[in-house]
Amino acid sequence: MQGEDKWFLARKRLLDRLWREGYIRSRKVYEAMLRVPRELFVPEAYRDLAYEDRPLPIGYGQTISAPSIVAFMTEELMADVGMRVLEVGTGSGYQAAVLAEIVAPSGTDPRYWGHVYTIERIKELAELARRRLEEAGYGSRVTVIVGDGSKGWPKEAPYDRIMVTAAAPHIPEPLLEQLKPGGRMVIPVGGVLEQTLYIVEKRMDGSIVKRPSLPVLFVPLIGEYAWREEI
Ligand code: SAM
Repeated sequence: MQGEDKWFLARKRLLDRLWREGYIRSRKVYEAMLRVPRELFVPEAYRDLAYEDRPLPIGYGQTISAPSIVAFMTEELMADVGMRVLEVGTGSGYQAAVLAEIVAPSGTDPRYWGHVYTIERIKELAELARRRLEEAGYGSRVTVIVGDGSKGWPKEAPYDRIMVTAAAPHIPEPLLEQLKPGGRMVIPVGGVLEQTLYIVEKRMDGSIVKRPSLPVLFVPLIGEYAWREEI
């Protein structure tokens, strides 16, 4: 079998399973994940595990999240074509590519495209993610920023959607401020050893509604409005 077909079939098999298990609930998320080659975002040494449903190490003590959690968080974010999204915790760049396929789907008219801003505190990971995103064709749909995402990225705010892919001790105030009225955020909140995924909505009157969802386990969000470096 040709290399590309092999990856495509492995990807489809995994996504069909995530659909049966209820992590994927919409065609939109299924098709977005079907278009993103996860094998390009994992380190060479783990490429054969790219379509196992598990997190993988990406260096610097960080991980690329399991496909089931990517699927679940993407469903809960309820993003759509044309939206401006902030992701905190770029890591490998894979989740950013999936978000790009939702707000700016490949093969559609770029005039209707939204944009993904993704922020990573580890410079080396950000640079690698930027390169991979470019190679995979997402260069003009995703902007990778190096910085402390617990402060958000005020320069491009406000955002329709914010996804945080590292665990915070509480919801960082700047992220709430940078969310549009009517906007939605998905964020793991809790201790270092276990967290709850929260779905946060900012109503049109500016009030905040939080709903606890799945128990999850993420690496810590380290920054001014999150965990301090030494914890
Ligand atoms: N979304 C990523 C992907 O698709 O590969 C996985 C993210 S990984 C679980 C969490 C990432 O958050 C790590 O790369 C970590 O360095 C980063 N991180 C932690 N604190 C951060 C902060 N304050 N600002 C930006 N990134 C942060």
